[in-house]
Amino acid sequence: MSPVQMLLGCLLLLYLSEFLVWVRPDAWLFRRRGRGWEAVTHGALISSSRGSLHWVYPIPQLGRAYSVRSCAPLATTTGSNADSPPVAAAFSVRDIERRCQLVAHSLKPLRWTSWGLWVLICLVCPLLLLWVGLQPMLWVVVSGSLILMATNAWMLAQIHGKLFAESGDERLRLVLSACLSPLAAIRSWDLAQKQALDGFHPLAVAAALPNFRGWECLAAAEWRRLRYPLAPVRSPDGAIILDNPDSTEVRAAIEALARARRIEPAFWDATPKAEDPAHTQYCPRCRSQFTRQATACQDCRWTALLPISQ
Ligand SMILES: [Zn+2]
Repeated sequence: MSPVQMLLGCLLLLYLSEFLVWVRPDAWLFRRRGRGWEAVTHGALISSSRGSLHWVYPIPQLGRAYSVRSCAPLATTTGSNADSPPVAAAFSVRDIERRCQLVAHSLKPLRWTSWGLWVLICLVCPLLLLWVGLQPMLWVVVSGSLILMATNAWMLAQIHGKLFAESGDERLRLVLSACLSPLAAIRSWDLAQKQALDGFHPLAVAAALPNFRGWECLAAAEWRRLRYPLAPVRSPDGAIILDNPDSTEVRAAIEALARARRIEPAFWDATPKAEDPAHTQYCPRCRSQFTRQATACQDCRWTALLPISQ
């Protein structure tokens, strides 16, 4: 392999690494797939108890993804979490669509610098390297990159400051990385939008994103998790941790979303048919089926298995 090919190979690997996204276990990641969107539920490149690594399409705009915390506290009418957003606001599909459009529209000026750098790094750089050699290529690419990166960082700081005034640390991280690397600067247009929908409920975000895949499966699993909470456990510091405190309103909001999508939530809790004649019980949280000898679902730590009607 020639030095030029090795250099281009390294550049390609560095470019692709910018399109990997780390997802914490308490967050949902929404990414583009085909003509629509999906929530990342499996297929991680690396996975651990601290989170998992996923990839997005390695093209500006198509590589956009939204990270939404799954256990953000919500204020209910019974009074808990009074400082948090109310359930109705967290489930407002219209507000999510408006927020999404506002953030995308505000950050639109960054598309020029992002695509400009993309053309410079992905097209102009390899072609000049092959045709005119390393030194002339460096003159053109470095001078062009510096102008575009400086413009990009200035616009990013201004627009991000208006949209997310409270996220100073995140803005500093984004702007610094966009100043230091042209590849990070290409990504800054999409990464600036990653937290745009945080605070809304993930199922409402899924309902608001166009052509979202597999909404009913996710909604049914979440609804069952709330419907059958685990017994309270005591943390190492002595505090009692409730699995899903005050979930009635959240479940009602999920049911309302389902009916708006012409899905009947009553089926989510229906007794399943036995997948095997030996199965006589099932776990109401995850719908796994068990034989008569089983006393608990190990995956969910659920002990009250329900009978399957034969
Ligand atoms: Zn289970």
